[in-house]
This record gives sequence, structure tokens and C-alpha cells, in this order.
Amino acid sequence: MDAVVLLGAPGSGKGTQTGKLCDDFGFHRVSTGDIIRAEIRDGTLLGKSFAQYQATGMLVPDDTVCEMVFSNLSRIDGRGLVFDGFPRTLLQAHRLERFFVERDLRGFIFLFDVTFENIENRIVNRVSCPGCNSVFNSRVDGVEIGAACPRCGTRIAVRQDDTIEVLRHRYDIFRREVDPILEFYGDKVHVIAGNRPADDVYLDITEQMNLSALDSRNS
Ligand SMILES: [Zn+2]
Repeated sequence: MDAVVLLGAPGSGKGTQTGKLCDDFGFHRVSTGDIIRAEIRDGTLLGKSFAQYQATGMLVPDDTVCEMVFSNLSRIDGRGLVFDGFPRTLLQAHRLERFFVERDLRGFIFLFDVTFENIENRIVNRVSCPGCNSVFNSRVDGVEIGAACPRCGTRIAVRQDDTIEVLRHRYDIFRREVDPILEFYGDKVHVIAGNRPADDVYLDITEQMNLSALDSRNS
């Protein structure tokens, strides 16, 4: 099984690439946010403790985040995993590395290299599906607000957190967080020029991973 780690600022195109890998090759998306929401919804012990942290505005300890992510992964099988927004800390990176070894996974680390200006330009046209979390560019993909999602049929909405100020803040946080992680992975990191059409970026990723169209579910 392959495991793909996509590192990139919010709006750098991770979501789009994740969607493509899942659609074409049957990868399973691993998103900390999704897992946390599910645990809270299901009222699990972890979910309860997480909700408590959120209610008090305290930062969730890394251990809790890791426990949540990895307890969910033990049930997952399939072609591979795409980590979208994880790891965000050095401890998470260490745990993930251990998981790769334990599960004998072929790990690929990609960094989406984009400037804030790139993201700003892109975000103006970004829409997303609340049903399956797919992200589209209304200009490039022709998916407009209010239209049906091409993947799941849910009505497309704007992402509410896409204001420039919020984006700037999240970009700065990402820059700060990613440095120790990049240092940890060293020359294992494939740097992807992110400010290109999604299909070009995708070609880059699949080539690096030696994924060919022949393996694709759609072929
Ligand atoms: Zn959808």
C-alpha cells in the first residue's frame, strides 16, 4: 500500500489532488478535521475529550490528535492513503513514520510550493462541496456555486473561511509549522511547483509515485 503526505498551505491545491488520487486510484483520504468531526458526532471518548478542548478554546494535545488518527487508520484498507493536513507537528511526523514502518507502507512526501499571492488569486474562484469535501475552481473546472457536485451531487457552496485575512493568518501558521516537518523528512520531500494547472501538478505526483493510467480504476 502507498501512503501520500501532502504538505501545503490552505489553498495550495492539496484538496484537488487528494480528490483525484481517490477518484482515479481508490486512495482513501485521511483528514484530521474529518476524523475529529466524526468522533464528536459519534460521541466516542476521544470525541468527548476533543469537544471539551474545543469548548474551552484550549489546544488539543498532539497525543490526542495522533490517537484519533491512528485508531481510525487501523480499520482502513485499500490501494493507499492520502494524508491531507497531517502531520502538522514534529511529533505527528514521527508517529506517522512509525506507522509507515509498521504497516510496511511506501511513503511519498510532497510539498506544494506556492506563494501567498498564488493562493490569493486562486481562492477568489474556489468553491467546495459540503457533501464530499471536493474542491473546485469555478473558472477552471466550470463548477459554479449552487450547481450539483460532479462527484456526489450535493449542492456546491463557497467555503466560508475563505476571506483574505483568514487565509493570510492560516498561511503564516502553515509556514511556521511546516519548517520542522520539512527538516524531519529531509531529501524525501518532493517539491511540487504548485502554481500550475491541477492536471500538470497531478501528472507530476503520479509520475513521482510511478502510478500509471494502467492501474487506474477508470481504465
Ligand atoms: Zn461532492
